Amino acid sequence: MWKNILPVALFLLHRGYSPDVISERAASLMPVAMRLEQKEGINHNLLINDTYNADVTSLEMALDFLAQQSRKKGISRTVILSDLLQTGLPEDELYPLVAGLINEKGIDRFIGVGPALLRHSDLFGGDASFFETTGELLNVLPSFHFSSEAILVKGSRRFSFERIIQWLELKRHATVMEINLDALIHNLNQYRRLLNRETRVLAMVKAFSYGSGSYEIASALQHQNVDYLGVAFADEGMELRRAGISIPIIVMNPEEKSFGQMLEYNLEPEIYNFRVLEAFYSVAATEAGQVPVHIKIDTGMNRMGFLDSEIDELVSRLKKMPSLKVKSVFSHLAGSDDETHDAFTWRQISLFKQICGKIKIALNTDFWMHILNSGGIERFPKAQFDMVRLGIGLYGFGAGEIEDLQNVVTLKSYISQIKPVAAYDTIGYNRAGSLMRDGRIGIVPVGYADGLNRHLSNRRGKMMVNGRLASIVGNICMDMCMIDLTDINAEEGDEVIVFGDDYPLTNLARQLDTIPYEILTSISRRVARVYYRE
Ligand SMILES: *Cc1c(COP(=O)(O)O)cnc(C)c1O
Repeated sequence: MWKNILPVALFLLHRGYSPDVISERAASLMPVAMRLEQKEGINHNLLINDTYNADVTSLEMALDFLAQQSRKKGISRTVILSDLLQTGLPEDELYPLVAGLINEKGIDRFIGVGPALLRHSDLFGGDASFFETTGELLNVLPSFHFSSEAILVKGSRRFSFERIIQWLELKRHATVMEINLDALIHNLNQYRRLLNRETRVLAMVKAFSYGSGSYEIASALQHQNVDYLGVAFADEGMELRRAGISIPIIVMNPEEKSFGQMLEYNLEPEIYNFRVLEAFYSVAATEAGQVPVHIKIDTGMNRMGFLDSEIDELVSRLKKMPSLKVKSVFSHLAGSDDETHDAFTWRQISLFKQICGKIKIALNTDFWMHILNSGGIERFPKAQFDMVRLGIGLYGFGAGEIEDLQNVVTLKSYISQIKPVAAYDTIGYNRAGSLMRDGRIGIVPVGYADGLNRHLSNRRGKMMVNGRLASIVGNICMDMCMIDLTDINAEEGDEVIVFGDDYPLTNLARQLDTIPYEILTSISRRVARVYYRE
């Protein structure tokens, strides 16, 4: 501060102000608020926020601070920096200076935003990426997969870097879905233990990866050397490709209008009837080389796929379609997780084998065979053939054969308000609920628009607060619900678990007479997904 005041004092003396006046006025000056703000980020990141201005001196100070904090925590260093405006230096002096600082302060990852940085990108070594605008960076921010890093976010005001901070900041007081990536990988490995070394794994990531997020899950699975991904629709696959997922992807419900884009994005279709076969062939025939397809056989599910009676016709058509490469032939089990259907499951498996044999001979070609979903892997590992299709098991919901599966997804919120309610006063819409004695309720900002099923209203559903179960009282509203806290020690701001490790989602599924799949996939997209590793 003295460094700034001295020239001013000298100037005032020079202009004839008395030292008394100067010292009196100097005493009333307020120190400028600390510009470097530290925040806890998502995924165990540490955020250092300096989104007010950027010049070379303040950059150097911020970099030193970043170095000090990252050393303290033993984590890596990331810098997100905008163009420096109004420094008075010409670009070709300024940016070598900036690049010099970045290179010399041991920065592990550098992200530059602005036309000037983009123009000088070749000055920056190592892991560096550049964007013309903040908006462009925001579009791909998830693909950076920030985790356990100290991140300095420093930008000139015009670049609105507070939008980046908003995205990276851990919001304590919010309804969030936490996804434990280590538990997901643990579960993957539990299933892998049931497989032969050569058996490939296709991970189903349809429906936003069972509600848990597309890119982050796909990226973690790709990193674990999963062989294939499965999505329901072409746009899900295109989203993954645009985010940088490069392993093969099957589209289970390919729509005719997207065939062109599927070829462009390297997405492989499931072919389930003659209409789709002909339509896809007419698009693929113009491609250079063979295009992989996956043939779906209906062995008893009575959903999609060719029937046994259609196989001869299928083979004769495929023979006339040299540009299609039958990469795999597969089928789907209707009741793999349920003992009462085991005889039926074995019949499906044997019919599948028989049909595949027939196709192999008729086409005189080899292809992969696969029929097992999660329940099938656990209960019918003998039928693993060349590949298996793992879905719900990744999230820890098994068929009972694997003991050590871990919970992956936690939905949590917090108590936004606590208030006393007298006995028999009604609570919420339609006056549907009340306490039987004087008590108190907590308001929780999670409602049916977040995916909290309204059938959990009026004490059917419960939530966990400080290790105790609190009943939902009254009707669940669109954006919030009320819980009975009469016998529970709790304060405003306390965390509320809707489901998670200690209050499993299977409880909700049972109360709602449904399956975990439906609960997971009905959590609305407006609930932020937060990924972490332990
Ligand atoms: C969803 C799906 C799977 C995965 O099923 P889980 O029961 O979640 O393991 C496998 N195959 C197909 C065709 C699917 O649609």
